[in-house]
Amino acid sequence: MAFERWIRPHIAALEPYQPGKPIEALERELGIRNSIKLASNENPLGPSPKAIEAMRGETRNVHRYPDGSSYALRAALSSRLSVKPEQLVFGTGSDEILELLAKVLLSEGDEVVFAWPSFAMYPIVVQGSGATGVRVPLDAAFTHDLEAMAAAVTPRTRLVLVCNPNNPTGTSVGAEAFDRFVAGLREDVVLAVDEAYFEYTRRPDFPDSLGWIARRPGTLAMRTFSKIYGLAGQRIGYAIADPVLASFLERARHPFNVNRLAEVGALAALDDAPHVEASRRVNAEGIDYLTGELTALGIPVCPTDANFLMAELGPGVYEALLREGVIVRPLSGFGLDDQVRITIGLPEENERLIAALRRLREGSP
Ligand SMILES: *Cc1c(COP(=O)(O)O)cnc(C)c1O
Repeated sequence: MAFERWIRPHIAALEPYQPGKPIEALERELGIRNSIKLASNENPLGPSPKAIEAMRGETRNVHRYPDGSSYALRAALSSRLSVKPEQLVFGTGSDEILELLAKVLLSEGDEVVFAWPSFAMYPIVVQGSGATGVRVPLDAAFTHDLEAMAAAVTPRTRLVLVCNPNNPTGTSVGAEAFDRFVAGLREDVVLAVDEAYFEYTRRPDFPDSLGWIARRPGTLAMRTFSKIYGLAGQRIGYAIADPVLASFLERARHPFNVNRLAEVGALAALDDAPHVEASRRVNAEGIDYLTGELTALGIPVCPTDANFLMAELGPGVYEALLREGVIVRPLSGFGLDDQVRITIGLPEENERLIAALRRLREGSP
């Protein structure tokens, strides 16, 4: 009890992030093999072969500090997105972008408005900075209730987070609702749109966050190489912001936050359009297959715009699937005891999940 009393109270009160169960941990605990993990929204195709090649070549240079400006990646991405190079901020995953936002913006007593259930890192980062998270429940269709979020903004609000598509529900908001919401937002409130999954969206009216960044200072989009680019283990993400907001995040970041392998891997992955296209196709086909099969089993599925879907499997099915060697993500931490989040896998992985569910059905009275 010597030092514990000095731990800052808002840190002591944090609930640690619960990651998806690693395959190795499951197999060790149950003494089984050939398990599959459909729990962390990773790309089932793996990284781009071009990215692997580039990272392999770069290993000989790892005795040198990385390029702290990520010059090559910055140039490629800014031209791809038609934004100025100084509008980009790279981070150790887009998780770090959230941390940087908190660091530059939030003090004790400040409020941050976000939907709930949404990305589990939001309350951790917000409470970790001493600010207060204001959780606005999703609507009955598990979609962001943007009108309620607008109503939750107070004079203390410094930041609003919109996760689009939303993790863990897969739902997205369209341009009409989004534009109305942003147009009504007080101009000193920073808006961060978390677009970790936007590359997967199939809706034609997906909001144009870059257009808002150009028109509304204090707007930022967070994106990542962890999902469709298949580089979750390399930890690289980025923000697109107006140059002034970007300059503050740049001041707050560690100079060498993005490592050498991550930068060259991301650059090569960005260039591998066929791999991105294949990832999108495998995902779309997997969504259609799983939605069809789950629905046929009488399991309600939430329509998804991402690389995972939320399904109402019922109580206890998460644990039963573990014993079948299939790891999905329980959502009981959100109070959604009957729901799980299933990452879309390869066709044979999706089939294994369905076969396991059928077996469990038959085995139960
Ligand atoms: C996966 C994910 C991210 C990205 O995390 P990284 O730190 O870039 O790996 C960000 N936001 C949401 C909602 C996510 O699901």
